Amino acid sequence: MTFSFTATVLGSPRIGPNRELKKAVESYWAGRLDAEGLDALARDLRRQTWTSLRDTGLDSVPVNTFSYYDHVLDTAAMLGALPDRVAGSDLDRYFAAARGNDAVAPLEMTKWFDTNYHYLVPEISPTTTFALDPSKVLRELEEARALGIPARPVVVGPVTFLLLSKAVGSDAPLLDRLDELVPLYADLLGQLADAGAEWVQIDEPALVADRTPEEIAAAKRVYDRLSALESRPAILVASYFGSLGDALPAIASTGVEGIAIDLVAGSDTLATVPDLTRKHVVAGVVDGRNIWRTDLDAALASLGTLLGSTGSLAVSTSCSLLHVPYTLDAETGLDKALRSWLAFGTEKVREVVTLGTALTSGRESVEDEFALARAAASTRSTDPRLHDATVRARLDALTAADPGRSPAAERREAQSALSLPVLPTTTIGSYPQTTQIRVARAARRKGEIDEAEYLNRMRAEVADVVALQEKLDLDVLVHGEPERNDMVQYFAEQLDGFFATDNGWVQSYGSRCVRPPILYGDVRRSTPMTVEWITYAQSLTQRPMKGMLTGPVTILAWSFVRDDQPLADSANQVALAIRDETVDLQGAGIRIVQVDEPALRELLPLRAADQPAYLDWSVGAFRLATSGVSDSTQIHTHLCYSEFGEVIEAIARLDADVTSIEAARSHMEVLDDLNAVGFDLGVGPGVYDIHSPRVPGVEEIAASLREALKAVSVERLWVNPDCGLKTRGPAEVEASLRNLVDAAKLVRAEL
Ligand code: GLN
Ligand code: ZN
Repeated sequence: MTFSFTATVLGSPRIGPNRELKKAVESYWAGRLDAEGLDALARDLRRQTWTSLRDTGLDSVPVNTFSYYDHVLDTAAMLGALPDRVAGSDLDRYFAAARGNDAVAPLEMTKWFDTNYHYLVPEISPTTTFALDPSKVLRELEEARALGIPARPVVVGPVTFLLLSKAVGSDAPLLDRLDELVPLYADLLGQLADAGAEWVQIDEPALVADRTPEEIAAAKRVYDRLSALESRPAILVASYFGSLGDALPAIASTGVEGIAIDLVAGSDTLATVPDLTRKHVVAGVVDGRNIWRTDLDAALASLGTLLGSTGSLAVSTSCSLLHVPYTLDAETGLDKALRSWLAFGTEKVREVVTLGTALTSGRESVEDEFALARAAASTRSTDPRLHDATVRARLDALTAADPGRSPAAERREAQSALSLPVLPTTTIGSYPQTTQIRVARAARRKGEIDEAEYLNRMRAEVADVVALQEKLDLDVLVHGEPERNDMVQYFAEQLDGFFATDNGWVQSYGSRCVRPPILYGDVRRSTPMTVEWITYAQSLTQRPMKGMLTGPVTILAWSFVRDDQPLADSANQVALAIRDETVDLQGAGIRIVQVDEPALRELLPLRAADQPAYLDWSVGAFRLATSGVSDSTQIHTHLCYSEFGEVIEAIARLDADVTSIEAARSHMEVLDDLNAVGFDLGVGPGVYDIHSPRVPGVEEIAASLREALKAVSVERLWVNPDCGLKTRGPAEVEASLRNLVDAAKLVRAEL
């Protein structure tokens, strides 16, 4: 058998330890860095990443996990599967596919499985002619080999690629196109072998979701054919984010040499799959998605149980480390106990190496590491911050007794006092991060201005945003969120039980990075979090000011969560804090409160069998958060970034008076879906795509509204962009909102 490695990871972060790639890509977009400069930086980052993985002790290092924007977009480029409007090998066309420009619309973007990473959705039409362009992967392989790295190229597999793509211009299942892709992958494998790759990792995470027997059979045929090739590297089919289930025996029955299995999120029983005794099993026992230190004893024990049922065994992370920050070394504010409970990317690589050593040389050889992990686990289980009796008692009382809100019709009646016009216009919350905001933040960071001065400047921003909205004649105003670094972190910083990192950045999409807070203890709101800001904004206008909060599911989805209690319990604790905030906002005279849940779809379990329980607790947490107010307070929610099909019923069950929902890129399909489940509350399908710098014209927005009015009665339709505006520039936002208000007026006049 081929040389089989013992310690690896399925992928690594790529934004750079100090977000170097983000900064460089943005400089390139702004014309401050040329393509050569960008290329040099990227190459340097790759070198650092690979050498550090090798030097830490991995004996197989993933390459081609680098990307300028997104690895699914890279795969589409590799397979010649980009739509004509953006096809081509040039870097600007690549970025146009990702972000759009004046001339072309970008690809749609959606969540990568149940993570907070977003990929670009390839569009495949009957006229798509696939053609292999292996230049990127070959180049990275060559670079790595020149550095003496034991490089294992990684590509997205054909089954996953097609299942994640969107069919345009045909209803035929995309998997019908597998036969066209297999020869391209065969060609690729031949070229990788020629270039010296001993192993190739082919990622097929789509196999951990529910798949039909036909889909599994199709996957088996692909790997039968690829493994039958004469000239190829050893093939590692990598799965992650759950169990392979029926796909495991199917893949194991093919001639591939290796299978990577997620033993953190998944629960496959390997002993029942006889073919695995001939495979190199890459066991994902170190959680690639969360930041808790691995229980090394438990991990080693589970590795031990696999020894008899596998041909050979390697230790790995459960998935790519793309989803965790680079290193704990960059954190200065962590208390000693908390630090000892955590492992970020670098620390996880060390855990993998430690476990690999324990496997090959016995635990004694790494006993010190095991002892440290054990000590950390014991301080964590006894820390008083993990259990707040008051919070738990309040929650128990409330979940037993809360009657929820009145029927929607009664609420509508009570809310008519808001006296809004038909087709009310509003925005989703944030306004552009202006130069003044950036300057003030930098000055505050460097200590050049004090907190009072900083807050003054943020208040000035709020005043500007309110004045702008009055000038534009919007109906329901927002304060613009200038004081918030991030919609989750802002709340996490104010709630007990969360820790906000200094430098724990992870890629969300393209150059956008987020810093998920760490939820480690019981959640408590000790003081109001937003009331001062919202009431200040309301004091500047007669129009209704919409209070802006983040919902419990989104706060959890965009945090690293506790792994020592059910997520539902954590969600209810956060919901209680948000509920207290809604009640305080109402008490301060605010009549509309928006509770954002853009991540509702994101946490949906990949397997249908697990979904109802999730939807029950997540809807329950939202309702707990929003049912403390009176009927006259209008509750809004906002959802984005997703195909909503599978959660559409849950959206209806949220029972928010108004739901704004991303639709600009998916063309209003969502309204038909909402109708199908009998949803009859207010709805604002986004009519301005804020993921692109393009300014939509009045006629274009009006056309969207007319289309929406075919699906939604006039008294239910709201007019809004499809998401917050903070990533956009002030000039384009002003122009777009002016068109949005004009379009609403135009369509009102036609009624
Ligand atoms: N209120 C938030 C904002 O406008 C919502 C952001 C989001 O949906 N992702 O920024
Ligand atoms: Zn949004």
